[in-house]
Amino acid sequence: MNQNPVEACPRFGSIQHVRPKAILIGATSPKKRFGGEEKSGFRRLDQLAVDECDPAELKPALLEQLVDGFYCDSCGVGFVASGLVRGSDRLAQ
Ligand SMILES: [Zn+2]
Repeated sequence: MNQNPVEACPRFGSIQHVRPKAILIGATSPKKRFGGEEKSGFRRLDQLAVDECDPAELKPALLEQLVDGFYCDSCGVGFVASGLVRGSDRLAQ
């Protein structure tokens, strides 16, 4: 069922240099941590957190921060499957 096909690099739109990679995401987004507001001056380490993902796509508790993603060797950028994120930002780092 979950074939985890490679998705195109979000920068170049090509699968040429993309390979599957497990990606570690944040436990909590700043938005959730601070009760809905983005604090100015707070630098988040992760661009993506568990509460920003579709719960149905995540692994069980304790493994939920480890998601199936991809890495583009050409750009040096990691990203997650398009179905994972609620919203549009797919860049994981
Ligand atoms: Zn790329």
